[in-house]
Amino acid sequence: MFWDKERETLRGKRLEELQAKQLRWTVSLAENVPFYRERLREAGISADDIRSTDDLSRLPFTKKTDLREGYPFGFFAVPRREIVRVHTTSGTTGKPTVVGYTQRDIDTWSDLIARNLTMVGLTADDTFQNAVNYGLFTGGLGFHYGAERTGMMVVPSATGNTKRQIEMIQDFGVTALHCTPGYALHITEVIEEMGVTLDSLRIGCFGAEAWSETMRHELETRLAIDAYDSYGMSEMYGPGVAFECTEKHGLHIWEDCYLPEIIDPATGETLGPGEKGELVITSLSKEAMPMIRYRTGDITMFIEDECPCGRGLRIARIMGRSDDMLVIRGINVFPSQIEHVLLGIPEVGDQFMVYIDRVHHLDEMTIDVEMNRSAFSGELGDLVGLQKQIQQRLQEALSLRTSVRLVEPGSLPRFEGKAKRVIDRRGDL
Ligand SMILES: [Zn+2]
Repeated sequence: MFWDKERETLRGKRLEELQAKQLRWTVSLAENVPFYRERLREAGISADDIRSTDDLSRLPFTKKTDLREGYPFGFFAVPRREIVRVHTTSGTTGKPTVVGYTQRDIDTWSDLIARNLTMVGLTADDTFQNAVNYGLFTGGLGFHYGAERTGMMVVPSATGNTKRQIEMIQDFGVTALHCTPGYALHITEVIEEMGVTLDSLRIGCFGAEAWSETMRHELETRLAIDAYDSYGMSEMYGPGVAFECTEKHGLHIWEDCYLPEIIDPATGETLGPGEKGELVITSLSKEAMPMIRYRTGDITMFIEDECPCGRGLRIARIMGRSDDMLVIRGINVFPSQIEHVLLGIPEVGDQFMVYIDRVHHLDEMTIDVEMNRSAFSGELGDLVGLQKQIQQRLQEALSLRTSVRLVEPGSLPRFEGKAKRVIDRRGDL
């Protein structure tokens, strides 16, 4: 069940040698980019100085805002005539980042996706429906080329017209579906309304938005499939950076192509296995647009124990964004951790609001949690036991004492776009 067993299982000294060689190559390419030339000069390091991956910490970070300033082609490290394709990031604020690819990049990227798909048991006998946006978004063409690489029959259905998508799955005997987890849930609701099932479907590859174990359970049960988490970002080709194997316990990150680090987002300090922080990635085989210590903003941690599948390093499912991180009494807390705890308690809904105050020089966190309509008797006074139980669970998850207030169903504000669940009042003193 390997696409490229040798590269996928590289370990120890051989991996380290390959990474050091590729890091040297990446830095020498980056020297063609004015931004990197300048930063590397400031750091007093050049490609020739790189002896091992330990030299990584001497290299400068790259931030999203740096890339934005290079708009459109400022980060290309090869002549314009060698670029065969561009994609862009979604660019919710300001100009997007333009990502360039040489033919070799497209080939490497397709291989990475082919590895992911092979890892979860897909072969040339499968039929793959690619129900994501094509065009500038990397998820469409990225998965399309990678799936073709494995020899599967690819149905480039793109997004929209859900009934037609469902018909195609049924008529073409589609065995694997790639889409966002949100769209998969929508498809699930529609088939349930239609009173039909998707009997041929056995595997779902879901990515491009954050999702939880609860959501996996939901999709696996209702669609009768195995659902796998896919991770990537346009700055690193697109999807294909890391993917779950059939163990469904963390995502294997392809260390022959990406050199990952976990740092404390506040201090930039490197963290060890089991410590959660921001994922930073250095590309090792990107040619058109090498990336040095790119700060992804995604919060995760390394899982270093052996995976039964034989592949190497894993990262945990993304826990949130570093922009959302709170520092409460010196402890890093993510709203997604609170959400995760609440999702595991059936009596409460998924709406909550966090208030942070400073009382006698100490940070205090208060969380308003909405009751679930079906579990609410009309009396909040009866719920002291539940309130204590939630506080207890939060303390276990966050290593922090909080005050929980239960509130009536429907009483907290709803958000159409990105939810604002934290009100930090510590600056108001
Ligand atoms: Zn594995």
